[in-house]
Amino acid sequence: MKKRIVVVLALGLMIAAIVCLAIRQPAEITVSPEWLQAAEGLDEITISAKLNAEERSLSVQQTLHLQNRTGQKQDAAVLRTWPNAFQNLDTSPCAAEEGIMAACYPAGFSSGALLMVQAEANGQSVLYRYTDDAKTVLKVPVPGGWQDGETIELKLTYTIQMPQMAYRFGVWEEIWAIGNAFAIPAVWEDGAFRTDAYAPVGDPFVSDCANYTVTVTVPKGYVCAASAKAASVENHVYSYRAFAVRDFALVISPGFKTAQTVQNGVQITAYAADAAQAKELLKYGRKALETYSEAFGSYPYPSYSLAQVSFPHGGMEYPGLSMISTDLLAEGGRELEYAVAHETAHQWWYAAVGSDGWNQPWQDEALCEFSLLEYAEKHYGPSERNDLEQRRMETALRVTVPQGITPGAPLSYFPSMSMYKLVVYDRGAACLCALDRTVPLDGFLRDYYQNYAFRRAMRADFEQQLFESTGEDLTPLMRDYLDTNILN
Ligand SMILES: [Zn+2]
Repeated sequence: MKKRIVVVLALGLMIAAIVCLAIRQPAEITVSPEWLQAAEGLDEITISAKLNAEERSLSVQQTLHLQNRTGQKQDAAVLRTWPNAFQNLDTSPCAAEEGIMAACYPAGFSSGALLMVQAEANGQSVLYRYTDDAKTVLKVPVPGGWQDGETIELKLTYTIQMPQMAYRFGVWEEIWAIGNAFAIPAVWEDGAFRTDAYAPVGDPFVSDCANYTVTVTVPKGYVCAASAKAASVENHVYSYRAFAVRDFALVISPGFKTAQTVQNGVQITAYAADAAQAKELLKYGRKALETYSEAFGSYPYPSYSLAQVSFPHGGMEYPGLSMISTDLLAEGGRELEYAVAHETAHQWWYAAVGSDGWNQPWQDEALCEFSLLEYAEKHYGPSERNDLEQRRMETALRVTVPQGITPGAPLSYFPSMSMYKLVVYDRGAACLCALDRTVPLDGFLRDYYQNYAFRRAMRADFEQQLFESTGEDLTPLMRDYLDTNILN
């Protein structure tokens, strides 16, 4: 009897020791070979930014090594400088709707801008110019021309003036939302550079993947959330290396508390003013990451950050980073969980697999809503999935909307955020539900991710992949849902 107790005790101690070791062993962050391969040969963009809290600005020095991939000689490089849209009420994306305007500018209008100080191309100072009224399309001439295949070096010095506002770009309640703030190369498509406006609805940004090296200097005590994991933090300087990303975003605050874990080789960090909220955010972030990694294929980056931002839009996605609203965090529970699940799905549908957010916004938004249904079913069962589908998608099909406004319409067709959401998110997802009832989409989604990660998929690519993966021509069904008016 005594012997048995000793054996049981010894065994117990051994198990306890193994468990302790397992807990103490730091989980390792792993880097996927696909990701490194995707980064090869991409444009290199280096940003050095300093945050000036008093002036509410960032001083930036940026170097871009850009290859001419247009198939023809160019006389200039074209960059997008989105902060300039915030200079005045005529071009601000938040001024089109009264309710949105009041929510985004709680203290009244505040101007934001990207103020260029100097531009150099291949070592020569050049006279740049803007080609649109909002000054979001910057043309930087290349002396002697830019041959096809040639790589040029651009050096820009500028100041980002942050507006005082609650948005994806702005400072509010001591949180700096630095989304679409830095200059990025315009996309070349069908013989021209894309020059879309900063539309008041949706996420009007189209970009290709590039490699970013970023350093950010912040005042003492400021905490940075970013599109990459910090390689080092020394003397208030955060250094990052982000491969194969469409943009580089940051959220910075002196008030952030963090919660962090490593799961399946990915470092996941949540940032919020309240430590308990950061914990809850982390819980949902890791759950969503695990769910979609299983369903669609491994998460593409070595880190994922979720950060609190004061804005009225629920959430906003960037590569490796999701912004989540203060209101949702305060609400917590299922609403927050589903918002995190939607935003996290964007890491697959927008960040990895790029699409045309201006002309076919359903291609990522509806797919993220559909991914949310899969998430809901996995964690809460088929009845929750059905309920959610009824609440969001089926209801949306019954609302009357003006002629011509269909899920397949471009951003310019939508008069309000609410109509945009109803049609593009919910009716768009109803289309995917209909497809899924015809042929389950699981295999297609895996193929679509596998074949288009780090590229941009057009609607035709989506349709072609759907045909290849399912063996069925589903384009008539898609046209029915995406391009046809419903007569209620
Ligand atoms: Zn979305």
